[in-house]
Amino acid sequence: MFLKVAIALYNKQRMITDAKSEIEALRKTLRHHEYLYYVLDKPEITDAEYDQLMRKLQELEAAHPELITPDSPTQRVGGKPREGFVKVQHSTPMLSLDNALNEGEMRDFDRRVRQLLGGAPYRYVAELKLDGLSMAAHYREGLFVRAITRGDGIVGEDVTENARTIRSLPLRVSNGIPEFEVRGEVIMNRQAFERLNAERDQLGLSRFANPRNAAAGSIRVLEPQITASRRLHFYAYFLLINGEPAHESHWESLEALNRFGFKVNPHRRLCAGLEEVLDFYREWEGRREELPYEIDGIVVKIDSVAQQRQLGWTAKAPRWAIAFKYAARQAETVVEGIEVQVGRTGALTPVARLRPVEVGGVTVSRATLHNEDEIERLGLEIGDSVIIERSGDVIPKVVRVSSPGSPRQPFRMPSHCPVCGGKVVREEGEVASRCINTNCPARLKESILHFASRGVMDIDGMGEALVDQLVDRGLVKSLVDIYKLTASQLIPLERMGKKSAEKLLANIERSKQLPLPRVLSALGIRFVGERTAVLLAEAFGSLDAIAAADVETLQRAEEVGPKVAQSIYQFFREPRNIELVEGLRKAGLKFEHKVRKKKGPLQGLTFVLTGTLPTLTREEAKARIEAAGGKVAGSVSKLTDYVVAGEKAGSKLDKAKALGIKIIDEQQLLELTGERASS
Ligand SMILES: [Zn+2]
Repeated sequence: MFLKVAIALYNKQRMITDAKSEIEALRKTLRHHEYLYYVLDKPEITDAEYDQLMRKLQELEAAHPELITPDSPTQRVGGKPREGFVKVQHSTPMLSLDNALNEGEMRDFDRRVRQLLGGAPYRYVAELKLDGLSMAAHYREGLFVRAITRGDGIVGEDVTENARTIRSLPLRVSNGIPEFEVRGEVIMNRQAFERLNAERDQLGLSRFANPRNAAAGSIRVLEPQITASRRLHFYAYFLLINGEPAHESHWESLEALNRFGFKVNPHRRLCAGLEEVLDFYREWEGRREELPYEIDGIVVKIDSVAQQRQLGWTAKAPRWAIAFKYAARQAETVVEGIEVQVGRTGALTPVARLRPVEVGGVTVSRATLHNEDEIERLGLEIGDSVIIERSGDVIPKVVRVSSPGSPRQPFRMPSHCPVCGGKVVREEGEVASRCINTNCPARLKESILHFASRGVMDIDGMGEALVDQLVDRGLVKSLVDIYKLTASQLIPLERMGKKSAEKLLANIERSKQLPLPRVLSALGIRFVGERTAVLLAEAFGSLDAIAAADVETLQRAEEVGPKVAQSIYQFFREPRNIELVEGLRKAGLKFEHKVRKKKGPLQGLTFVLTGTLPTLTREEAKARIEAAGGKVAGSVSKLTDYVVAGEKAGSKLDKAKALGIKIIDEQQLLELTGERASS
């Protein structure tokens, strides 16, 4: 008897030990590939292979939750920022640098350095100045524990959960240093930036002005899943222990960061003096276009930390470092015409045709004008001279009219679609005019590109040139046709061979495995971007449930208001879209979603918050309701269970009263969540 129990115990122990070693081996493999992909930009396996390993690890961890550790690659997207963003003081100030705007100012800086160092030899380290947001990442016992934004330099915000999603930020570092801090820049690549803005256009949201704003906005969203989807990068440039440089030379510090597995910009140079710095500056001024991200200058630092200390600080900035900026890339030219492009939702975008002009080493002949309102705001007419600027966009923008043309001719939005001749309509309250022909080839091409894009259905190889051929030759008349393509149809196309056709078909096949939120955002429903798609999938669990829901029920999903609900409802009532959905179902796409069951006292209950609560902020109240398994909706409907009302509650309270919904205060909410005993 005793022996049996002992054997059973032994077997159980052995199973756990086996799982443990398998989990550890998988984590090691995943970390290695993350490093190759995100830090070195040299992947050795495909995304699909990576996903497969990740899924395997997720399954094992789900079976053995006791073995989950915070540095597991599965834990990049997990928690929520706890209570909004907590303010945290930096170990030592993260002050900004003084600027040198031209060579003269750079020479002045060098002269001061030479004087202050009293003739001693010195070296500079020149690095590219990435245009992003500075952040400090803290490690304890080799584990990533906290990330703080620069903020005002003294106090920043705790963005740990969001920073965790940045794949080039290691969650574990084995360097034997018990506690250290890595400062660096969070950036968004140009390509990711453009994709994000294109998506925001389609959703009717305002565009980010440049990749820096986009990166800053992405690290500060309250949903780590969104941060994860934004594909940010972290480039490390300072290694600190107790707020002090860890090495006696800045260059050594960068090398050490590199060895520890951080992404350190490879474009850096140890310079013997000012002339070498100037060479580096000029070299990268010419080569900036080769980079996948924006730079706005170079950073020049004294290499020796002892000399840095000797030079010290002014009230605002160190005397041992300077940002040597590039001139803004603007140019003047003439608007020769205004063309109109048709997007996925049928939106017509005016684009200025420019007399070709060189801006920062690139010849520019087009600039986006966004919409009619923008043209009006600029006071622009065809024939005018304008100042254009290149920032993050590949398509530059018009900053202002520098002198009116003569003659000049006002622009009128065409009344018919330039692609299909269909009617163009501008609806009340909308900035965009749209082609309303749902069969418009321009709309179809855009829908296919959106459907296949990265972060949606990830069909690599389905680019613009191919999509043009597919639509023009009638091979793809609807999104469903993507799944009917055959090698014999593809091989005769331009720039297509047997090999690339097979590769493309494999990518198409693989896209069928993507989860429901991807499918939902691939459909191109207006106002349904990646975040809304995730929330809808979580709330309803299947595409059929979403398609069947009425406008009221749809608002049960978090953050889905009447406008979004209306758009979803309408979408699934269009015969053409029903046909599309059925076709995709037959093709074998994922229509079901495993809803992560949240258990708690508020499970299944929907809350609406209104007014100012006495102690909790809205975010805090929301976090507590969700932690207890409840949901928070944006508007009151008959499906609302409770309205939590504070001071100055508005129309939501009136609606709740009218519908007879139970109204509670903060105290009662806390009792319901079980955080405070009834008194
Ligand atoms: Zn059209």
